[in-house]
Amino acid sequence: MCIFCKIVNNEIPSNKVLENDDFLAFHDLNPKAPAHILAIPKQHFDSFNDVTPEVMGKMTSFIQEIAKEVGIDKSGYRVITNIGENGGQEVKHLHWHVLGGTKLKWGHFSDSDTKGSF
Ligand code: 5GP
Ligand code: ZN
Repeated sequence: MCIFCKIVNNEIPSNKVLENDDFLAFHDLNPKAPAHILAIPKQHFDSFNDVTPEVMGKMTSFIQEIAKEVGIDKSGYRVITNIGENGGQEVKHLHWHVLGGTKLKWGHFSDSDTKGSF
């Protein structure tokens, strides 16, 4: 079972922000902004590559709720999902980084050069 499935099953503790039947949000262990929340579907998907439009639709509302709950909806925030090796995905359970609480630098999350192969 993957590490985020273990968090869903309460086998690993997490600092929860919001939860419903389908999704869970908790603080990132290693925050990269004053607010750094991870939003995950309870159902395991390896990454964005595998998620269904139905789950994504509900995920949108959930992320909007997180931003309100944390109080960053008006000041602004960033939503990111890393996909696969080039995307820098470390945990292979679909998750969204919800970052805010300060003026975010764009370069931090796109700090590669523009040359490469794909
Ligand atoms: P990725 O690099 O896969 O997009 O992001 C994985 C994120 O999960 C990282 O920001 C990392 O700090 C966070 N993370 C990894 N393990 C744990 C954990 O056990 N608990 C929490 N709360 N966050 C974790
Ligand atoms: Zn999982």
